[in-house]
Amino acid sequence: MAAAADRPMRRAALIGNPVDHSRSPAMHNAAFAALGIDASYELWPTEPDGLPARFAEIRDDGLLGANVTVPYKLDVMPLCDRITETASRVGAVNTIIPRDGELIGDNTDAYGFATSVRETTGGLGVAARRGVVLGAGGASRAIVVALHDLGAQEIVIANRTLARAEEIARSLAQQGIVGVSAIALDDLDAGTIAATGIVVNATSVGWHDDSLPLDAGLIAALPVDALVADLTYRETALLRAAASAGLATLDGYGMLLHQGVRAFELWTGIAPPVEVMRRAMLAG
Ligand code: NAP
Repeated sequence: MAAAADRPMRRAALIGNPVDHSRSPAMHNAAFAALGIDASYELWPTEPDGLPARFAEIRDDGLLGANVTVPYKLDVMPLCDRITETASRVGAVNTIIPRDGELIGDNTDAYGFATSVRETTGGLGVAARRGVVLGAGGASRAIVVALHDLGAQEIVIANRTLARAEEIARSLAQQGIVGVSAIALDDLDAGTIAATGIVVNATSVGWHDDSLPLDAGLIAALPVDALVADLTYRETALLRAAASAGLATLDGYGMLLHQGVRAFELWTGIAPPVEVMRRAMLAG
């Protein structure tokens, strides 16, 4: 263990399991270095029964902040002293902000996705249009909130297991986010797709092979000005097919970057060096 004098002044950490492939340390450590902040971002692989000890460490050691990833974004909610309105809407915590003796649970995933869409399209194509979100797992709800915040008129969640999509739509309606409906992925048809401004793949289909989460015929039915986004951190078969059809595309790196940028800003109160973070993430 390093002597106290050798340790960085401040720390930030990522709680999850597994965390070893995360690009967050590269991104945040590059930002600390660029701004001359004496801090380091650590990976904290954690078993479920280790979460309370992690929270005690954040509190007692005066961490700058922490991120939370799979599978703990829901489990940490009761451990926070307070949950922000944003985290309540998204229904999950991915960022912990120590402030005035409290640990505040926030969520920057919806912001991250909305910002990456704005970077690509200026938000045009989403506002006052229909958005289709494929998938109803942990990431889906943040995407629906982001599309709502971008001004989508109507959002359709299409999932293999219909009940999970229905549950997200019901829960968001209770939070005042209306205009969200659910259908089974197999029932998604060309009529629904034809009036769509953005399709987002929030399923895990496409991670490991070239399978498509959406039939090729439905990709062809999208309007020419539609944006096809995939949360996966690479050029998936879906993105290749969309690009071949002449559609604008967006991979998952922009969301990853901007959720981190926002977390950094919340922890430090300093405008993050976005391009430094982007380069470090892509190299990372
Ligand atoms: P998750 O909770 O495990 O949910 C997986 C989703 O994929 C579910 O809706 C599931 O449907 C669906 N699915 C899985 N296999 C399928 C198949 N063969 N056919 C159709 N649907 C299938 O995962 P998650 O945490 O929401 O993550 C989803 C994706 O987003 C992952 O690729 C993840 O890496 C990515 N992600 C990216 C970012 C980013 O910053 N870019 C952030 C978060 C997540 P059922 O409900 O029917 O099982």
